[in-house]
Amino acid sequence: MNNILQAAAEEFGTPLYVYDANQIISNYTAFKNAFSVKKLKIHYACKALTNLSILTLFKELGSGLDCVSEQEVLLGLKVGFAPEDIIYTPNGVDFEEFERVLKLGTKVTVDNLSLLEKVGVNYPKYPIHIRINPHIMGGGNAKISVGHIDSKFGISIHQIPHVSRLVKSLNINVEGIHVHTGSDIIDTDVFIRVADLIFSIADEFEGITSIDLGSGFKIQYKQDDMFTDISSLGKAFSKRFNDYCKTKDRDITLRFEPGKYMVSNAGYFVSKVNVIKQTTSCTFVGINTGLNHLIRPMFYNAYHHIENISNPDGLKKLYSVVGNICETDTFADNRLLNEVREDDLLVFKNAGAYCYTMSSNYNSRLRPPEVMILNDETHLISKRETLEDNIKNQVIPALDQWV
Ligand SMILES: *Cc1c(COP(=O)(O)O)cnc(C)c1O
Repeated sequence: MNNILQAAAEEFGTPLYVYDANQIISNYTAFKNAFSVKKLKIHYACKALTNLSILTLFKELGSGLDCVSEQEVLLGLKVGFAPEDIIYTPNGVDFEEFERVLKLGTKVTVDNLSLLEKVGVNYPKYPIHIRINPHIMGGGNAKISVGHIDSKFGISIHQIPHVSRLVKSLNINVEGIHVHTGSDIIDTDVFIRVADLIFSIADEFEGITSIDLGSGFKIQYKQDDMFTDISSLGKAFSKRFNDYCKTKDRDITLRFEPGKYMVSNAGYFVSKVNVIKQTTSCTFVGINTGLNHLIRPMFYNAYHHIENISNPDGLKKLYSVVGNICETDTFADNRLLNEVREDDLLVFKNAGAYCYTMSSNYNSRLRPPEVMILNDETHLISKRETLEDNIKNQVIPALDQWV
């Protein structure tokens, strides 16, 4: 991979995002094969990496999409996903946006009682999914743990009686139950516990044909990190699910919405060393990027493995890797790297999920290009931004007098 990254850096310049499409294909296949149930649908959570070529790859794989905004839905439709393969799972949107998406014919998930009532009054026949907050603590940190009791997501499991009353009085067509407990769940038991709860809720609604267990599959950022063992989870879970369907004589489609699992380890972020700065306490490596391009280390305290691909045999030394943004943007503190020299290429691993999609133009810097490697061929899938891209919506009013 390092040779490919080096060549890509030469061709497209740095900083640069590179995605290994074959890794995505293998992640998707492993996930799909882990479950043995009659009807399984994977909806790739596209906020992780929303590039149109990546969406197209998922479409070709037979995946559906999980979209959290009207815009993500429109992108999915643009690359050819069928509306019924898209699940729209927004949080806190206004009814106008929800209506516009519903009219496109996607599957929709209702995340609060106020919306449920509006949908019931205006579109009682439209099949909906109800997002339940199971109040089970999962998730690697407070920002990404979304299923606990104080989370803003979902309808509390304790409000099921209220949901049932609305559903019955307004004749709402509940097609599915949805739950997403957060990202980075280590304990696979959490999934099984959530599933059991969801089964008991499904019993309350007659017409259920879909159970969506969201995501939260933990992947490895560090070599010794705990991670979700998808094949053993799949085995244990499939049995439980099949037993449920059989006992209750129900024909249910099982859905998942993995984002990070599908694309994180397929991504590489290639940066170049601008400056080595010795201080009294450490050696700074200043690279030609910053929190504007990769914010996970600063936002989530996330660990990203870094490799000096220009000097793989250099002596290991301790460095503090920092960005070039006028803000403290530390990528890694006290990190052992093969000796780093100015102009070396430093590569961040696991740069597929929530990296490019969380980037910004802070400091008026431009977003890097994105490149996809498929079967050893390199394809540019988004160009480096220009200053013109960045200001095209700005308007300077033609005033007679400014001051
Ligand atoms: C973000 C999100 C996901 C994907 O989470 P990952 O941790 O990236 O797998 C799935 N479902 C919903 C509703 C989400 O908001």
